[in-house]
Amino acid sequence: MISLDLHVHTTYSDGSDIREMVAAADDAGLDAIGLADHCILHEDRFRRCDRTDFDETYPERRSDIERLQSEFDVTILDGVEMNYDPAYHDEIQEFLARAQFDYTIGSVHYADEYHIAKTGWFASVDEPDRAAAVDHYVDWQLQLIESELFDIVGHLDLCERSSELRGRITDEQYDDLLEALGRSRSVPEINAGRVFDDYGAVHPNPRVIDRFLDSGVRFVLGSDAHKPTELTKRAEYLTDFTESRDLECLPFENGLSVDEALKAY
Ligand SMILES: [Zn+2]
Ligand SMILES: [Zn+2]
Repeated sequence: MISLDLHVHTTYSDGSDIREMVAAADDAGLDAIGLADHCILHEDRFRRCDRTDFDETYPERRSDIERLQSEFDVTILDGVEMNYDPAYHDEIQEFLARAQFDYTIGSVHYADEYHIAKTGWFASVDEPDRAAAVDHYVDWQLQLIESELFDIVGHLDLCERSSELRGRITDEQYDDLLEALGRSRSVPEINAGRVFDDYGAVHPNPRVIDRFLDSGVRFVLGSDAHKPTELTKRAEYLTDFTESRDLECLPFENGLSVDEALKAY
């Protein structure tokens, strides 16, 4: 079984009860679970910030973590999935410096006028705009990596999960992402958020993972689970996936912070 899942949501954003998520990780035999609730500091045209006020409630989740840690063996890490919009670089930087999470994931969910994260959103979007959406997305993802704001880059090729956008990221664009990662402290995740849906694969697309590994890029693992049953099934999937490919991902080491572990990785 994998030892560390760094991407789990609770009711502090759009996930499930924190105790149930921790219990599922404990039952699955994980050494550590990283809670990474959505945090959005600003309004946007898709009103994603209406779904969470984690920028205000994160201290309450810390109290919950402290209480639950005394009941469960699995180590509970205090992480965050920050929504990244390059226009808010300074606000994000200031907030993260103040909040002091155990680790941070940065994620692009929309890029300019394109709502990349919303399945089905592109069904009514015409061809030129679909192509433009992918270009905008990759551009924002490059800015995220180069911002050095985050420990982890969330779902590197999120547009792959939309059937209308799938397969459109070019080899050159993947190479640009690869080179940017090579220069950045940020580490990408293998994200299992859509392995049992229409997409049916991890991010980044398995067809490019070997290219990344050959270039020396390392990964962390994230189920992106919003329900306990998702955590259980996706942890199993990630275990099989990493074993079948002989893939090394960041393990959990007791006493070592995620930050320190990533630096040494
Ligand atoms: Zn996300
Ligand atoms: Zn997520």
